[in-house]
Amino acid sequence: APVIGVLALQGDVREHLIALAAADAVARPVRRPEELAEVDGLVIPGGESTTISKLAVLFGVMEPLRARVRDGMPVYGTCAGMIMLADKILDPRSGQETVGGIDMIVRRNAFGRQNESFEAALDVDGVPGEPVEGVFIRAPWVESVGAGTEVLAEHEGHIVAVRQGNALATSFHPELTGDHRVHALFVDMVRANRAAESL
Ligand code: GLN
Repeated sequence: APVIGVLALQGDVREHLIALAAADAVARPVRRPEELAEVDGLVIPGGESTTISKLAVLFGVMEPLRARVRDGMPVYGTCAGMIMLADKILDPRSGQETVGGIDMIVRRNAFGRQNESFEAALDVDGVPGEPVEGVFIRAPWVESVGAGTEVLAEHEGHIVAVRQGNALATSFHPELTGDHRVHALFVDMVRANRAAESL
């Protein structure tokens, strides 16, 4: 089974570890460069993107992470994790950096405070069957994408799921629902990448 890390600096790490294990991956927390070097793919969880960014720099994993994403390691970011994968943030806080990897511009807290949390049924490309229950918690949306970035889902005209090559991002939190289909999609991406690398 593919070994998939969850960046374990801040955020809902445990929920992703559980969802990945349910989707037949070997899941483990990653904090340090040595741990990052041992995984076939990585999830960046939901949480607070400025905090995750600062801790990634502090723990010395920001640069190694950028390098692995550039090299094509599959990566999946939810909510704050989506923000971390954006090549550009519209309204970064001071000291906030991103890993990048997806040619998109993301707006933080875009769905607004009056609605800090809501759920919506979403059709997500690549996830067959019933709609995915999207849990949005002070969620970002994708303001715009470049030509190489695929839009996988929208909510009320706003882009909430994207993929560029081996990088996947959702504004919402499939790890909180018990429906592991989005994680299964990511595990398949990691499997396919491993197979391609061993050719
Ligand atoms: N609003 C948070 C941020 O900007 C993201 C919220 C979340 O991950 N649930 O980082």
